[in-house]
Amino acid sequence: MTASATKPVERQLPTDEARELLALTRDLADNELRPQASEEEAAAEFPREAFRTLGRSGLLGLPYDEQYGGGAQPYEVYLQVIEELAAARLTVGLGLSVHTLSCHALATFGSEAQREKWLPDMIGGEQLGAYCLSEPQSGSDAAALKTRAVRTESGGEYVVNGTKAWITHGGVADFYSTMVRTSDDGPRGISVLLVPADTPGVSGAAPERKMGMKGSPTAQVLFDDARVPAERLIGQEGQGFGIAMAALDSGRLGIAACAMGVAQAALDYAVGYAKEREQFGRAIADFQGLSFLLADMATAVEAGRALYLAAARRRDAGLSFSKEAAMAKLFCTDAAMRVTTDAVQVLGGYGYTQDHPVERYMREAKVLQIVEGTNQIQRLVIGRTLTR
Ligand SMILES: Cc1cc2nc3c(=O)[nH]c(=O)nc-3n(C[C@H](O)[C@H](O)[C@H](O)COP(=O)(O)OP(=O)(O)OC[C@H]3O[C@@H](n4cnc5c(N)ncnc54)[C@H](O)[C@@H]3O)c2cc1C
Repeated sequence: MTASATKPVERQLPTDEARELLALTRDLADNELRPQASEEEAAAEFPREAFRTLGRSGLLGLPYDEQYGGGAQPYEVYLQVIEELAAARLTVGLGLSVHTLSCHALATFGSEAQREKWLPDMIGGEQLGAYCLSEPQSGSDAAALKTRAVRTESGGEYVVNGTKAWITHGGVADFYSTMVRTSDDGPRGISVLLVPADTPGVSGAAPERKMGMKGSPTAQVLFDDARVPAERLIGQEGQGFGIAMAALDSGRLGIAACAMGVAQAALDYAVGYAKEREQFGRAIADFQGLSFLLADMATAVEAGRALYLAAARRRDAGLSFSKEAAMAKLFCTDAAMRVTTDAVQVLGGYGYTQDHPVERYMREAKVLQIVEGTNQIQRLVIGRTLTR
């Protein structure tokens, strides 16, 4: 068995263009991501070039307007592209999702002039983004953030001081979509600044030493008297928390799609192994006890995919989708944790070694239950919409 032995998922796609995009993605995943994923992850190598390739292939701005160089694709297509990439290498699938998240504020709440000026470079492939909300003392309670932006007397700049924590692409991104405090008025005192990474006073700390997804740098981003032009304020002062939460509604769908990619990869590997491995004189797949495990794994993957696609189609239709996105993130990431753990079980002792990718999938699935709002926070979001 090798990590490349996966069979394509037969997808329901709305257009021929979408089918071509998925075929292109699959090709890229098979040839440029999957073969070196295990080695590069073990060595914590960030695949920067892969993101340039995504940009050149038109895959880095799929949900955004063609006017700015985007692909104008519905979310149901964009998310399935993420799923395929995540199945090959989570660092890239999740990286694309985070990059899209970091463009969301400008694309959705920026002025026309701001979009024309910055968006084409951000989604064109040369630039990579990061989304800076969390801080060392404020994770789930994101509105308690302290990074402070003070407008200069002339009004032309903000002076930013503070520390952002856990930032995906921290230290390697080209721009930081940064939530800052512009007044002490709780969530209403938060604003968004689009900060170029080469701004003097902005720096990335050493990457965290993580359990998995080691190829994706996660680091603190430090702001030390960083002067950011006031024209880089997105939306109005005080609108930042709403802008950040709106981005997360969409971002959570990306995490759900990543989860199903990792789960599908684990399922495919487990099925292939079970057909080859023999015990008691027959393939272990022939034992009902084991095939029931595989059946439950496959059912979880199908159910998760259907749930995130249903939420995406609501978004594409212009309906509310916040609750559904939280449900998809919760269900898909919990399902991925279960499926990847069961994949290790299917391989027995071999599953517990680094000779097979399933232990990596299990470590990768874990982080998806934590990022972009832990699954406890998703339950809070869902519960509130039920009882409000
Ligand atoms: C690999 C990685 C990448 C990340 N990337 C980014 C990024 O790009 N940008 C960014 O801004 N952040 C990022 N994060 C941060 C992530 O969003 C936070 O870790 C997450 O929101 C949880 O915050 P915390 O770690 O401070 O945990 P805490 O908020 O301290 O939570 C600790 C525990 O308490 C639980 N808890 C907290 N409040 C409640 C409550 N009200 N009810 C029930 N349970 C509760 C949580 O569910 C959790 O189990 C990343 C994190 C990781 C690990």
